[in-house]
Amino acid sequence: MGFIRDEDINEVMERNNLVEIISEYVTLKKSGRSYSGLCPFHKEKTPSFYVDPAKQLYHCFGCDRGGNIFSFIMEMEKVEFPEAVKILADRVGYQLKFEKEREGKTSKKERLQLAHQEAVNFYRYSLRQTKEGEVALNYLKKRGFEDNIIDLFQIGYAPSGWDNLTKVLLKKRFTPQELVEAGLSIQGERGYYDRFRERIIFPITDIRGRVVAFGGRALKEEEAKYINSPETLIYHKGSTLYALYLAKNEIVKENEVIVVEGYTDAISLFKEGIKNVVATLGTAFTAEHLRTLSRFTERVILAFDSDTAGLTAAERGLELLGESKSQILVVLLPQGLDPADFISQKGKDEFERIIKKAIPLIEFVLNQRINKHNLNLPEGRIKAVSDLIEVVIALPNKIAQEEYLKWLLDKIPVSEEFLRLEFKRRVRYNKKNIEERKILFTEFVDDPELAAQAKREKEILKILLQVEEVTPLINQELKEDYFTQLIYQSIFSHWKELFKRGSFSRAVEELSKLNEENLQKAISRLMLEEIIADNIEEYAKSLLFKMKEYFLKSQIKKLKKELEGLNPFKDRERVDSLFEEIIHLEAIKRNLQM
Ligand code: ATP
Ligand code: MN
Repeated sequence: MGFIRDEDINEVMERNNLVEIISEYVTLKKSGRSYSGLCPFHKEKTPSFYVDPAKQLYHCFGCDRGGNIFSFIMEMEKVEFPEAVKILADRVGYQLKFEKEREGKTSKKERLQLAHQEAVNFYRYSLRQTKEGEVALNYLKKRGFEDNIIDLFQIGYAPSGWDNLTKVLLKKRFTPQELVEAGLSIQGERGYYDRFRERIIFPITDIRGRVVAFGGRALKEEEAKYINSPETLIYHKGSTLYALYLAKNEIVKENEVIVVEGYTDAISLFKEGIKNVVATLGTAFTAEHLRTLSRFTERVILAFDSDTAGLTAAERGLELLGESKSQILVVLLPQGLDPADFISQKGKDEFERIIKKAIPLIEFVLNQRINKHNLNLPEGRIKAVSDLIEVVIALPNKIAQEEYLKWLLDKIPVSEEFLRLEFKRRVRYNKKNIEERKILFTEFVDDPELAAQAKREKEILKILLQVEEVTPLINQELKEDYFTQLIYQSIFSHWKELFKRGSFSRAVEELSKLNEENLQKAISRLMLEEIIADNIEEYAKSLLFKMKEYFLKSQIKKLKKELEGLNPFKDRERVDSLFEEIIHLEAIKRNLQM
């Protein structure tokens, strides 16, 4: 999907009603000028989720998620910005401008997806209809993958030779650039060649069943057993799950999903009739995956080989535990067996039996950590307590925290008093951290000058992101150093990076897709909040002027402060150079022009 224009965005916003849309997910009650209800994004008993119909904004004061109609759909439906716009446009039967204009023409993403579709056809043909493919087919059969499974998962074969697929796709009028961007071809010194060669191909689909990437398994013992597609415009590893398209209905029906680590694990379980199964794609299971899955079920069972499970789950554990809505369980398979081995050796019933024995992720992580400490020694016990409290604190509510504090008392021989004291200390410490972060992330600062500066930073970014004509001016004048607010500084540096690589519209589109929550909230505000000025260019100039001035002033102040602390005799050299620098900065400041 291409870039959506402001007119379209405004039109879609105007025609949709935020309250009406949110009401489809949340029971809202009118309270004063706004509505309130139980937050759909986190578990709560008293409503802290507010919708303001006049401003067409929502905010949860419990989990601090908020935004506009688009971010709501993005969050709720787990889609990206353009898709959210599309969903809302469809709801009211509005046809987006770019769709009209591009009728017949296809967008970049669609081109990349099309290339994948052609590639699937080619790989499947190579598996079924060529001499070379027979070896691969025999291998698959030997592993128990029959025709129906091979077809359902669209498994294929990439032949040996350098550029079989590349040639086919070039003939089908894809450009070399498109093939590289799709991750299918690689540019070498002597032209373009296929990424996947002499490998069994497992197509990876998105949630709508469109092939967006491939995993390729070597047939022989090779250094790289798997080669996978790189991240592309249409493929993001962190949120994609293998086989989700095939499994999703079953996941809803069973209200449970089993997550495995390998393509072949997912396929093997599926063919034995366990169809609520997905696989991660050579990465750890992330909170993003969890969010993708939470559309279908809240009960997630991680089934890992015991070699890798420790690592992946324990590292990701904390991040995942904070996601309050889901229930995450872990099953460890016997040493040396992955789910595919297990089910082929012991059968479906036995697999279902061990799945029933899954333990909560929290207990799994705690056990992992406890084993690292020597509880016979006092230091070991103290270290264990602080290590494990970190985990308990990540739990989303007090009841669960209390429960696992008791659990800890049971396992670590320390006094309850000590444990609780440590816990309180840790909570306080975290709170302080959060407070500090808040100051950096908002304009809520006591210093009125700093507050004014923060406001300027916000205003200049609004212009940068909304008014294309003024972008060159700002790009030229604005420096990362001018920012005092980390979040704005970070948005600006992201923007600069993106803008270097493409056009204004591409940069804006990419920015709106950034997957960092704090950034996302700020960005949607920056992109949508109205700019109130008669002449935007003049406004931008005056903001830039004041930001530069503020920057110089605070630099000078900093240097002067350092100067005060020095001894003019002992620190002669430093004092001189500070003086020089201050005079230099003062001169620049005087000469600043709007
Ligand atoms: P098989 O059953 O044929 O051994 P598998 O899918 O079980 O295949 P594993 O070695 O268990 O393979 O690896 C699990 C997953 O990790 C793979 O499916 C793949 O996504 C990823 N992976 C494995 N090896 C690599 C590699 N060298 N590079 C990138 N990803 C890999
Ligand atoms: Mn495996």
